[in-house]
Amino acid sequence: MSSEANAWHQALFQLDQAAEIMHLDANTHEVLRSPKRTLEVAVPTKMDDGTVRVFAGYRVHHNTARGPSKGGIRYHPAVSLTEVKALAMWMTWKCAVVNIPYGGAKGGVVVDPKDLSPTELERMTRRYASEILPLIGPERDIPAPDMGTDAQIMAWIMDTYSMNQGYSVPGVVTGKPVSVGGSHGRGAATSRGVVYVTVATLKHQGLPVDEARVAIQGYGKVGAPAVQMLHDQGCAVVGVSDVMGGVASPRGLSPMGLESYKAETGTVAGFSGGEGIEGDEVLELECDVLIPAALEGVITKENAERVRAKVIVEAANGPITPEADEILQDRGVVIVPDILANAGGVTVSYFEWVQDIQALFWSEEQVNERLREIMEAAHVEVLQLAENQKITLRQAATVLGVRRVAEALETRGLFP
Ligand code: NAD
Repeated sequence: MSSEANAWHQALFQLDQAAEIMHLDANTHEVLRSPKRTLEVAVPTKMDDGTVRVFAGYRVHHNTARGPSKGGIRYHPAVSLTEVKALAMWMTWKCAVVNIPYGGAKGGVVVDPKDLSPTELERMTRRYASEILPLIGPERDIPAPDMGTDAQIMAWIMDTYSMNQGYSVPGVVTGKPVSVGGSHGRGAATSRGVVYVTVATLKHQGLPVDEARVAIQGYGKVGAPAVQMLHDQGCAVVGVSDVMGGVASPRGLSPMGLESYKAETGTVAGFSGGEGIEGDEVLELECDVLIPAALEGVITKENAERVRAKVIVEAANGPITPEADEILQDRGVVIVPDILANAGGVTVSYFEWVQDIQALFWSEEQVNERLREIMEAAHVEVLQLAENQKITLRQAATVLGVRRVAEALETRGLFP
C-alpha cells in the first residue's frame, strides 16, 4: 500500500475502532466512513517564462452535521486525494473534540511551492481558489493554512473570493494577515495549543516541565514557535529537524540562534549550535517528549522500537501509523493524539471567523486566554474518558469526536 493510501486507511481504522468501543449505530458508522463530497480540479497556471503548467488540486468535505466545514489547504508534492480525504475526516473529529461548531474539510495542490516564483504562486493560488469556488464560503467551507501555505496565500484566496462576490468577505478563510481581518494570535495558535497539552501531560505524568528534554521534527509554522515556547517553559529543546536535515544538542539548542539561522539559510540543517543529524534521526533522540510537526506516517513499525521519548505529542496530523501506535502503547509511551494536540490552530481559526462575522476584534490576550480554556477543557475531557473506559488517549479523543458528530447527525436525521 502506498504511503498516501495509508493515511486514509489509518483514518478509517481509527474510526472503526472508536465505533466498536462506543457501540456506534451501524448506519451512522456507514455514513461517517465516506466523505460528503470531493472535488478534483486542474489548476492551469502561466509560468514566468510563458509556459503553462497544470497542477492537480483537491477539496474534500468530510462531514457538515455540526456546521460549515473547516480545514487547511496543503501545497506539497505528495498531496493526493486519499491523503486529503484522511485529513478532512480528522478535521471533523478535531472540531468536535474542541467542541467548535464546524465539520471537517481539507484541500491541497500537488506542488512544491518552493519551485514557484512569488508571481507564479499567486497565479496558481488564485486559479485554484477559482476552481474550488463552488465549495467554499463563510457559511459553507472555510479554508486555512496547512503545510506549504501561509497568511499571504490566505489573503489571495480571500481576495479572489471577494472579487467574485463584489464585496469583501473576510470570513471565507482564516489564518489571514491581521490587515485583512486575521486574528491576533492565529500565527502561533497551533504551537500554543501543542505547548498547553505538552505541559499538562508532563504534569499529569509527574514529569518536571523545567527538566523536560524535547525533540521536534519540522521547523515550520507549527514547529518553530513551539521551540521558543517550550524553551520559555524551561524545557531543553535537544533536537530539531526539517526537510533538509537536523541538529541536536543534549544541553539544548538556542531558539533565537535557530530562528536567525533559519531566516538566513532557509533551513535548520548546518546550524552550528549543535551536532548535525539526518532528518529522521530526530525521532530517535534521547528525550522525554517527541513532537512530530511535519508529515504523516513518519513513525512506523520500522522505527517505533527506536523511539526513546516517554511522551509523544502529535503536532502533525497522523504522524504515527496504527502498527507503530500499537508498539508504542505496548511500551507505555503516552501519545497525545493529533486531533487534540494540534487543535489550537482550528480553535483560533474559529475565533477569527467569529470576529470577521461580527466585525469586532479581540486582543491577543483575549484570544490566548480563550484558547487556553478550550484546550484545557478538551484535554481534561479526553483524559477522563480514557481513564474511565481504560482506553488510549487516541481512542478517547476519537470516541469523543465521533460521539458529538453522531449525535448531531442522528438528531438532524437522514435527508430526505
Ligand atoms: P509548514 O509547511 O509551515 O512546515 C512543515 C515543516 O516540516 C518544515 O520545516 C519542513 O521542512 C518540514 N518537513 C517537511 N517534510 C519533512 C520531512 N520529510 N522530514 C522532516 N521535516 C520535514 O507546515 P505546518 O503548517 O507547520 O504543518 C506541519 C504539520 O502540522 C502538518 O502535519 C499539518 O497538517 C499540521 N498542522 C498544522 C496546523 C497549522 O495551523 N499550520 C494546524 C494543525 C495541524
